[in-house]
Amino acid sequence: MPPKTAFSSSSNADLQRRSRLHVWHPCTQSIRLEAVPPLPIARGEGVWLFDQEGRRYMDATSSWWVNLFGHAHPAINDALKQQLDTLSHVMLAGCTHAPAVELAERLSALTGLALGHCFYASDGASAVEIALKMSFHFWRNAGRSGKRRFVALKQGYHGETLGALHVTDVPVFRDAYAPLLANAHLVASPDARNARAGEGAADVARRAAAELEALLAEQHDTIAAVIVEPLVQCATGMAMHDPEYLLLVRALCDRHGVHLIADEIAVGCGRTGSFFACEQAGIWPDFLCLSKGISGGYLPLALVMTRDAIHDAFVDDDAARSFLHSHSYTGNALACRAALATLDLFESEDALRRNRDRAARLLQRLRDGLEGQHADHLRQRGMITAFDVREPGARFAERFHLAARAQGLLMRPIGNTVYLMPPYAIGDGEIDRLVDGTLATLKATMETNPKEGTHDVALA
Ligand SMILES: *Cc1c(COP(=O)(O)O)cnc(C)c1O
Repeated sequence: MPPKTAFSSSSNADLQRRSRLHVWHPCTQSIRLEAVPPLPIARGEGVWLFDQEGRRYMDATSSWWVNLFGHAHPAINDALKQQLDTLSHVMLAGCTHAPAVELAERLSALTGLALGHCFYASDGASAVEIALKMSFHFWRNAGRSGKRRFVALKQGYHGETLGALHVTDVPVFRDAYAPLLANAHLVASPDARNARAGEGAADVARRAAAELEALLAEQHDTIAAVIVEPLVQCATGMAMHDPEYLLLVRALCDRHGVHLIADEIAVGCGRTGSFFACEQAGIWPDFLCLSKGISGGYLPLALVMTRDAIHDAFVDDDAARSFLHSHSYTGNALACRAALATLDLFESEDALRRNRDRAARLLQRLRDGLEGQHADHLRQRGMITAFDVREPGARFAERFHLAARAQGLLMRPIGNTVYLMPPYAIGDGEIDRLVDGTLATLKATMETNPKEGTHDVALA
């Protein structure tokens, strides 16, 4: 018989062994579990995670980009404890509650009421599904049911349910399921690394937009929406682009009668420097998807914000013209309360302004340290900093991840891209430690570069 509640006293090895037996880990090649056993995390505090035996690791990926103000933040903890004693969950069909109402109000206020309505969901991929369905359904209600295809960017990532996966361009996630997926149009990524000699990021943006323009001019009658990750395509290696791209895409969508869906699941909530990434281009999309950081990294919560005019096109006696989509945990009260406490922290901690100083310190120290190393394309947008490693060798991401553990850092490169996306709670001393640890990890990883080996494992 396995022990029933003995998790607090388990050793690292014991939890790792039991995890292998019964937990099917996400985004993990199970065959590598022996070589790369999962870190058994017992607790978190600020930017730190502690394993079962008390060893600590800095959460340099914000736990897959969800954590904003650190683990076990006292203010979020207090808000959740209060909410727990009041209401944990009630269905949002036929009922409503203060946390869901207040969160929708405050988020629309952050868009200057441009996006006045908020539809709740649970995970990021479900928000993408909702935005795709809403866009198609809006056109159908408008008598344009031929508009049913979507345009996505090369290197884009929007989640892994079938609808979200069909607009995702990551072969390792997509290829096995290709027979199940609808066909999306894929257009050029505005990735600034694609600059030709003499070009800047804005030139790449204009070239990419020109390709979209040609497609929309020809096929807008059958296209419902364009979906983009504003400013940073995170999952394919922190590909960054010039805000001008968003401005151009907004104008093209307006001109051709096509919706713009901004997937801000990773880049929203201040990660790129402004609360919404779209603000840096001075535009609003027709649908904006949020998840990951919105609950402070505490609970699964996602939402799709849209214009009142789009919402109003579904207000109809006819059920077929209404948006009847639902998830059981839609608008979960605990998750909404965590989100409200998170929004409070943006104000009380003056987070966006202080993040500018944090980002500047991190970039400067990293730039100095990477001089003469095997690194290209050092880049930063807000609290996302990344560089690409030249001649990484086999299984680079995995080797780097393991070497980082030895430095007390939790990092997961994407292919040959090393990125630093720490929680906003990171202090100056911790920034220095993160940079020093990253450089030491890079050195150690390159020293153990195997001359040959199997194909790279794209840890994400
Ligand atoms: C993570 C992510 C998603 C999917 O969110 P899940 O909560 O993992 O389903 C969608 N789009 C982007 C841009 C993401 O980074």
